[in-house]
Amino acid sequence: EEDKGFVGAADTDYAEEERRKKAAQAFAGVRREFGKSYLPLINGEYVNTLDVIDSVNPSNYSQVIGKVGLISVEQAQQAMDAAKAAFPGWRKTPVKQRADILRKAGDLLEQRRAEMSAWIVLEVGKPVKEADAEVSEAIDFCRYYADEMERLYQGINYDVPGETNRYIYQPRGIAVVISPWNFPLAIACGMTVAALVTGNCTLLKPAETSSIITAKLTEILVEAGIPKGVFQYVPGKGSQVGAYLVSHPDTHVIAFTGSQEVGCRIYAEAATLKPMQRHMKRVIAEMGGKNAIIVDESADLDQAVVGVVQSAFGYSGQKCSACSRVVVVESIYDTFVARLVEATKSLNIGEAELPSTQVGPVIDANARDRIREYIEKGKAEAKLALELPSPAQGYFIGPVIFSEVPPDGIIAQQEIFGPVLAVIKVRDFAEALQVANGTNYALTGGLYSRTPSHIQQAQEEFEVGNLYINRNITGAIVARQPFGGFKLSGVGSKAGGPDYLLQFLEPRTITENI
Ligand code: GLU
Repeated sequence: EEDKGFVGAADTDYAEEERRKKAAQAFAGVRREFGKSYLPLINGEYVNTLDVIDSVNPSNYSQVIGKVGLISVEQAQQAMDAAKAAFPGWRKTPVKQRADILRKAGDLLEQRRAEMSAWIVLEVGKPVKEADAEVSEAIDFCRYYADEMERLYQGINYDVPGETNRYIYQPRGIAVVISPWNFPLAIACGMTVAALVTGNCTLLKPAETSSIITAKLTEILVEAGIPKGVFQYVPGKGSQVGAYLVSHPDTHVIAFTGSQEVGCRIYAEAATLKPMQRHMKRVIAEMGGKNAIIVDESADLDQAVVGVVQSAFGYSGQKCSACSRVVVVESIYDTFVARLVEATKSLNIGEAELPSTQVGPVIDANARDRIREYIEKGKAEAKLALELPSPAQGYFIGPVIFSEVPPDGIIAQQEIFGPVLAVIKVRDFAEALQVANGTNYALTGGLYSRTPSHIQQAQEEFEVGNLYINRNITGAIVARQPFGGFKLSGVGSKAGGPDYLLQFLEPRTITENI
């Protein structure tokens, strides 16, 4: 039979009336559950906590969508003890069985797709279509990593006459997953199921602002059949519980997605050997980006404008893949900026739940205030080309475009993680590449061009982990665009790609004379 390769889950087609009805029902159902409490899962039990926080709807922060119990350091230690106790059984569990649990989780996510996406919309303010695509990505991670583990389990034979040589993989031990709020389901799920299917016992600590979605993921993993102690849901304060788990001598792998600042701290902390620790920790850290799209004189400007707007303002710029710099050659600069501003003006800004919304809120008050400070800094160093008004109810920031931004300016160098775009003018394509490469980051990048030599040169010299030519630069798909960067964008291999699981495994060679 022909191998068709991996086939990803399909997004919802909201043009179908039936689907829209289902989405509306899901929102009503989720609203009926507003205010409920969610507890950590330690050793198979939902446990009470002293500390409880509210999780609110960023589109309208007077709505408390639920309460979340945060664990203490003592409870983190209990979770670690449970993980250690569960590890011998989990590592011996047949790979097929572990993979099938992931497939079951993928199927359950598909069954609960509309509900899961409603939780994403309401807890982190992501517009409906993007939330739905995130559910697809989470499903894909489950199914793809299940397949991948079965592939790796075959091992490799290097036999010669009189001697067998088997190359095989074993789990590392205990994995701590620290997940971000911006892809609260997909990235939490991807890192977690990768750690689990490779045979590691896994503790999941989500970003506080996305704890309820992770609680829902927990329900799904439990229902899919993850044994107690093997997976534990440990919401808590990053500075306290997160730091404790990272520095714990029994932690083997840390899988983190978040800011460069926290990633660097984790990397340093993980490198320090603790008393009683008999191994070096492996860190996978997916950090920031300051991603550029280059638009040259041969670009199709209709395409380029749409691609830049989507990449810069999708989910209010809160993706590490988002475009935050456009580098435009001078011959088309004025035309491009004028069209970009017009296109951005037509975006619908509003509550994430409304079907017409294209740009929703940002995650919380801290983010809003931080982004506002950057906007002020931008006003001091560049020309304000557009600042759209923000709705009052939630944590909104209308899209902002700065033009004539100096390539080394603050807003051209620091990751803002909001709907703020810097447009930079360059003489020619050579200078465009130089400017695009002139940051600490190397995550995504884009080029709009119809000049073959430029396309070729970008492939060779544009320093990014994911390069997109003549399309938007966000929305990487599992097993199609394995995702991740280098330089200060992160360490480790690409999520949704063929090397990802290797990071959770220890390879061994077994030689036998016969
Ligand atoms: N994988 C996502 C994308 O391609 C970005 C992930 C992130 O923001 O961390 O858009």
